[in-house]
Amino acid sequence: KVRVRFAPSPTGPLHIGGVRTALYNYLFAKKHDGDFVLRIEDTDQNRYVDVAEQYIIDSLNWCNIPFDEGPGKEGDFGPYRQSERKDIYKEYANKLVESGQAYYAFDKAETLDDHRKDHEAKGKTFIYNWHNRLKLDNSLSLSEEEVKIRLAEGEDYVIRFKSPESEILNLQDEIRGHMEINTEILDDKVLFKSDGMPTYHLANIVDDHLMKITHVIRGEEWLPSLALHVMIYRAFGWEAPKFAHLPLILKPQGKGKLSKRDGDKLGFPVFPLEWKDPKTGEVSAGYREDGYFPEAVTNMLAFLGWNPGTEQEFFDINELTQAFELDRVHKGGAKFDPEKTKWFQQHYLQEADNAFLAKEFQKLLQEKKINVDLDYTKKVVEIVKERAIFVKDLWEQGDYFFISPTSYNPKNAKKAWKNDTSELMQELSELLKKQEDFSAAAIQENVKSWIGAKEIGFGKVMQPFRLALVGAMHGADLFVIAESIGKEETLKRIEKGIS
Ligand code: GLU
Repeated sequence: KVRVRFAPSPTGPLHIGGVRTALYNYLFAKKHDGDFVLRIEDTDQNRYVDVAEQYIIDSLNWCNIPFDEGPGKEGDFGPYRQSERKDIYKEYANKLVESGQAYYAFDKAETLDDHRKDHEAKGKTFIYNWHNRLKLDNSLSLSEEEVKIRLAEGEDYVIRFKSPESEILNLQDEIRGHMEINTEILDDKVLFKSDGMPTYHLANIVDDHLMKITHVIRGEEWLPSLALHVMIYRAFGWEAPKFAHLPLILKPQGKGKLSKRDGDKLGFPVFPLEWKDPKTGEVSAGYREDGYFPEAVTNMLAFLGWNPGTEQEFFDINELTQAFELDRVHKGGAKFDPEKTKWFQQHYLQEADNAFLAKEFQKLLQEKKINVDLDYTKKVVEIVKERAIFVKDLWEQGDYFFISPTSYNPKNAKKAWKNDTSELMQELSELLKKQEDFSAAAIQENVKSWIGAKEIGFGKVMQPFRLALVGAMHGADLFVIAESIGKEETLKRIEKGIS
C-alpha cells in the first residue's frame, strides 16, 4: 500500500513551497488509494517554534489537504512527533555502531573549526571522512578501552556515519531519473548527539522505515542528502523507499529561489495563512487573509512544477487527484507567478455559489456595521460579481447598494451637473415619488418616456441621476440600483444630490 509523508520541521511558518510538497504527497497518496502521513520533525530544539505545528495543521486544513495520520489523528504508526519518539533513535544509532557502520567521535567544535580554517588557508575543503578520520578524535583512532572511559565520564560525543571510501553509488529519483555519486566526496554525517537527540538524517530514515513509507516526495534541497540516506538504508539492511525531489520554486523574475522574505518585499503572500512571528511580532501576509479561496491556491500550487499535459487549467482537488502523475513533475525550477494566482482566484470566485459568496460578503458588511438581510446581499452579489476577484471587491463594486454616496467624484460631478440639472433632478424626484410600481422595468419605462416628452438628451438626466445614486459614473444598471435600494432611498439620494 502506498504510504507517503509530509515531514515539516516546526521552525516557523510553512511557506507555499512546503504546502506544495504536502499537496503533491497528498495527491499521489489519494491517486493510489494510499495514506498521507503528517510527521512533525521537531528534533532541533534550538530552532523549535511552538506555534508552528498548529500553523502547519491549520494550513493543511485550510487548503483541504487532510492527513490520514499525524498529531491528533493517531494511526498505527504513532506517535507522529519525533520529540515523542526520542527513545527509539538511540537504539538504531547503536545498531550501526555495533555493526561498524557508525562510530563515536569526541572532537571539540573548536578543533573542527581549526581544521576547517587550516584547509581553507590551503584552498581546500575539510571533509570529515575516510580521508582524515583516523587523525581525528574518534573511536576509529582510539582504543576500545579509551572510548568506554570517555563515554563513562560523560564526555560530549556524536555518532557519525562511516561513509565508504570510494564507491560509485547508483541513485534513482522518480523525477530526475538515474544519478551516480562517488562517495569519496561525502562526509561522515552526524547521526546522533550526546544531548540524546538524533539528527534529521537518522530520525527521518528510522521513521520512514518504521512508518512503512513507500515514497519520499520532498523538495529539491534534500537531493544532496539522497546518497547518505540510501547508504543508511543499506547499512540497516532495509529496503529504501522510492524518492522524488520536487523542483525549486523561483522568484517571479525567475532569478533565485523564492524565499520566505520575498512576500513582503514583492507585495504578495508566500504563506498560506497570515503569520505573526512570536518573537518579533512581525506580521506576514497570508493567502487566506488576503481573500484568496483555497481552491485558487491549490490550483496554483499544483501547476508550480507539474502540468497535466492537456489544455485544462482549472482543477479542483478531486480532479487533481485523478490527473496527478509524478512523472509529469518538472525537473527545472518553477517560476512563481502571483498574477496567475489572482487569475485562478477570479475564476473560482466567478464559479462560486452566490449563496456562499453572499454569506462571505455578509461578514464583511457586518464588520462595517451594515445589517441587511442575506437575500438582499445575494441579489447584490448577482449584480456585481462579474467584476470581482475577491469578496472584498464586491464592496468596491457595489458599496452604493448599501450606503448612499459619501462623496461625489469631482470630475464626474462637474461634467454631469449643469446649471439646469438641479431643476431636472427635482422634476425626476417628483416623477418617481408618484410611481407605484418601483421595479427596474417600470422605472425605466417611466423615466424614459418622461425624458422623451421633454425632448432632451438621455445623458442629461441619466448622468446626474447616476452620480446621485452611486457617487461616480460607474456601477450597475441604474434602474436596477434604484429598484434595489428602493423608492425612499432613491429619493433621498436625489435630494442629497441636489443640495
Ligand atoms: N524535516 C525535513 C524538512 O523540514 C523533512 C525533509 C524530508 O522530507 O525528508 O523539510
